[in-house]
Amino acid sequence: MDDVKYKKLFQIAEKLHSSLDMDVLLGELSVTLKEVYPNFSYYLLLSTNTHSRSDLRIIELEYDSENIMAINAFVSGNVQFESSYVEQHAILYAPLKGKQGVYGVLQVIAPDTSKFPANEVEFITLLSGCAGGALENAQLYQQSLRTISDLHLISETSHQLNSNQPLAVTFDFMSKQIKASFDVEEVGFFLFSRNQAKAKVLPGSTSYFFTRPARIYIDYIREKLQKENKPLFIGDLNLSEKNGGTSYYSVMAVPVNVSKKFKGFCIIIHQSPYFFSFESFKLLQSLVHHSSLALTNSMLREELKIMVTTDHLTKLHSRKFLDEKIQQSMKKDEEGTFILLDIDNFKEINDKHGHQIGDDVLIQVANLIRGNIRENDVGARWGGEELAIYLPKVPLDTGVAIANRLVKKVSECSEPHITVSCGVSYWNNEKPDSYEYLFKRADEALYKAKETGKNKVVIQSDNIRAS
Ligand code: GH3
Ligand code: MG
Ligand code: MG
Repeated sequence: MDDVKYKKLFQIAEKLHSSLDMDVLLGELSVTLKEVYPNFSYYLLLSTNTHSRSDLRIIELEYDSENIMAINAFVSGNVQFESSYVEQHAILYAPLKGKQGVYGVLQVIAPDTSKFPANEVEFITLLSGCAGGALENAQLYQQSLRTISDLHLISETSHQLNSNQPLAVTFDFMSKQIKASFDVEEVGFFLFSRNQAKAKVLPGSTSYFFTRPARIYIDYIREKLQKENKPLFIGDLNLSEKNGGTSYYSVMAVPVNVSKKFKGFCIIIHQSPYFFSFESFKLLQSLVHHSSLALTNSMLREELKIMVTTDHLTKLHSRKFLDEKIQQSMKKDEEGTFILLDIDNFKEINDKHGHQIGDDVLIQVANLIRGNIRENDVGARWGGEELAIYLPKVPLDTGVAIANRLVKKVSECSEPHITVSCGVSYWNNEKPDSYEYLFKRADEALYKAKETGKNKVVIQSDNIRAS
């Protein structure tokens, strides 16, 4: 090999190794080949055909290709030759070899000869080795970038999930992350009801999953997951015509398991066939895997919260919820009014009409309370037939007016007719006070109301501050 070519080789080696951009690398390779061998023709056979901007003719290298020599070069990593006396040309196949593998094959066709010129073999071999190394670097670099961004996604998602956000916020976040990372429009989250028969669509799922056509996909995937309990990766989904045919061909679905129990699943679908790469499938699996505990926790937390903060019969808040709200308000607000309400002679109602009607009366009173307070006020079931209302930032006279209005309404609207009595207490931050004492004053006032004829409002006798 002459000096000029060595120099050329040195230059190109330097250039190739200074870039981590696949397209730039292939461009450089093409330019060099054309310069050194203007009469030869070239093809690049790559194992993954993801390069578009190069002027080299790129062919995807497939294992079942008819080009046996190219496959030989690719698999063995050695240069292969082929000559055709009929067509009067000779072909060289040089593997693009890096340290970890072979990334493709450079096919060089020399015209007007039946044997590949020996003096060029060395140059082309060195050149393709050099290009292989550079391609390997570029691929590893791309891979590491992807890995970094995958890890970033997983870590950011886990972080968000562990920050005790409400369920809807959590799923919304997950959904946005998945849509951006996987370049999809449709993401769905599903949770099994207790008997595992039906999968409930969770908030954060895209609107499509709430429609009827989506049900076919959801049911199909759910059944498959239940049967196999392993993630699904489908590129050519084929639903029967009777089910309306297929409009989403690509499907990825991952079960959410908690303590080995199948609790729910996540679905991603796309209309184009074979849209998802296997890498993205792996990524979705890790994402769901890392999130499953946090997701189930936040789902359970939500369920539990509703359970403990709502009274089953009246659908008013529970006493626990009321306690918390009053304590919070006494810390941050300036004043507040508390009303304790008890149904008069409720025992008689039960005795006369039965417990069922008694329950119904309780519900009627609860509904009247709900209809007569504002959003920030708290209506609660204190226990038994005693109900309570807390009015944050409301002065005593307003609170008393609300109590009076309620007493009047109950007497007017209830069926069978009943009346209620109210004890009202009030606090403000001019005087030290406590939640227990606030309640005690209301209870005493209520007792007085009962003692003095019922169907009335009595205000605490002590601790009243002008409002
Ligand atoms: P007063 O006017 O002094 O409040 O008389 P009262 O009969 O309402 O008071 P008492 O405390 O003697 O009785 C309360 C009754 O309320 C007894 C209980 O059976 C009934 N009760 C408590 N909780 C419920 C409930 O959830 N449903 C029904 N139907 N009755 C209840
Ligand atoms: Mg009572
Ligand atoms: Mg009572």
